[in-house]
Amino acid sequence: MGIAGTPSTTIRQLPMSLASRHVAVIGAGAAGLVTARELRREGLSVVVFEQGDQVGGTWVYTPTVESDPSGLRPIRATVHTSLYRSLRTNLPRECMGFRDYPFVSRDDPDRDPRRFPGHREVLMYLKDFASEFGIAELVRLKTEVVRVGLVDGSKWKVISRKSGSDEAGVDEIFDAVVVCNGHFTEPRVAEIPGIGKWPGKQIHSHNYRVPEPFRDQIVVLIGSSASGVDISRDIASAAKEVHIAARTFVDGTLGKQAGYDNLWLHPMIESVHEDGTVYFLDGNFVLADVILHCTGYKYDFPFLEMDGFVTVDDNRVGPLYKHIFPPVLAPWLSFVGLPWKVIPFPMFELQSKWIAGVLSDRLMLPSQQEIMEDVEAFYSSLEVSGTPKRYTHKMGDYQFEYNNWLASQCGCPADKEWRKEMFYSSSKNRYARPESYRDEWEDHQWLLQAHEDFMEYTSNRV
Ligand code: FAD
Repeated sequence: MGIAGTPSTTIRQLPMSLASRHVAVIGAGAAGLVTARELRREGLSVVVFEQGDQVGGTWVYTPTVESDPSGLRPIRATVHTSLYRSLRTNLPRECMGFRDYPFVSRDDPDRDPRRFPGHREVLMYLKDFASEFGIAELVRLKTEVVRVGLVDGSKWKVISRKSGSDEAGVDEIFDAVVVCNGHFTEPRVAEIPGIGKWPGKQIHSHNYRVPEPFRDQIVVLIGSSASGVDISRDIASAAKEVHIAARTFVDGTLGKQAGYDNLWLHPMIESVHEDGTVYFLDGNFVLADVILHCTGYKYDFPFLEMDGFVTVDDNRVGPLYKHIFPPVLAPWLSFVGLPWKVIPFPMFELQSKWIAGVLSDRLMLPSQQEIMEDVEAFYSSLEVSGTPKRYTHKMGDYQFEYNNWLASQCGCPADKEWRKEMFYSSSKNRYARPESYRDEWEDHQWLLQAHEDFMEYTSNRV
């Protein structure tokens, strides 16, 4: 899965008179905001389309949930965010922020100074970022992109309309489109033998907000990701019993969870039955009221007329060069933010820097054939290592090599060591102490280095 030896971007001097290209960015979450900044820094003309009424994407919390809480019905009233009310970040703010706009605490009583702040603080940070770099003026709020397609083989027609309306929409022509629509909205649910006849209620974590509706209920929660861990603890404050069904777990951790008298960990669900029982793979069973799927999301681009150039197959968006450019359409169509199990914001910054440099002609991509060969080699390496297709964009450790490769393409410095070390240290802490990792830590050395590094950027700010 390494990237050493792959074809590289050529760095060129900027042409004296750059004919400004017109670029559409879809979405004004963290990815769309930093993309807009990078495109404008390269002298390109930018329009950001945002269906919501404010910038921030996922970080705009709402108590509202979708009309179908399971997310199974294709036609339903949808909500973009998946945040729950009690959510605090699962990464320390120092490593989470953009590389050149540190996410430091503000001297303001209205702000959350904690290292793992609540979700509102992240939204405020993204709004600060948008205002600091004058991005808000590029964003068209309450404007949903309904269709993006190629015209005359070289330009893009973007059709947008007022969000929630049935109007036909407005057509506009762009030279390039950058897709930043997020990928935590379209639920993915577990397949469970017998679920068709099981009489209980199914919910996806996308539609989980608060524990109160689960008072005195018996809940089976599937999944042990960061959200699964948080939500199980949140619900245990109200529910009668919470049973987590996990695909992977550390030996000796099954059974009643320390510190709780109503929280259990089980292996995966084996089957569910008409009488309401849920059987686990070890033969244990419970009579449950609710199954809560904390089982992740699907990539979804309902507005994109892909014509087979790029498809979503078992959650692989492809073919894509470095998770960004479809080879046949590069650089005129690109995606920011597809990788997961990563530190998102700094990666979005590097991905969009690269895209912006290529669109302004300052950087040049390898030939289409070289790009295609690189993509094929990457897919073969996944196959050889037995990695399922749906994990194509799952990065984990490989994110740091990927970021440094992107940085080298853009001619900017590699990531600082402290970011990586802080990421590993907080992940380790999270597994060991899921209840307290946000308030007790041991990475003081990296914290110090991060703040020394931030001085360069924060000395000019209040
Ligand atoms: P989003 O934030 O989803 O933004 C996409 C935007 O596109 C939205 O504003 C949406 O309205 C808009 N859009 C979509 N379709 C259209 C359309 N057709 N027309 C116009 N606009 C459109 N990351 C961290 O760094 N730290 C954390 O602690 C953390 N915790 C998380 C917890 C949860 C529960 C979830 C779901 C995610 C978490 N993340 C965390 C990851 C988070 O998703 C990223 O940090 C980041 O916010 C993703 O930004 P994005 O811009 O890619 O997508």
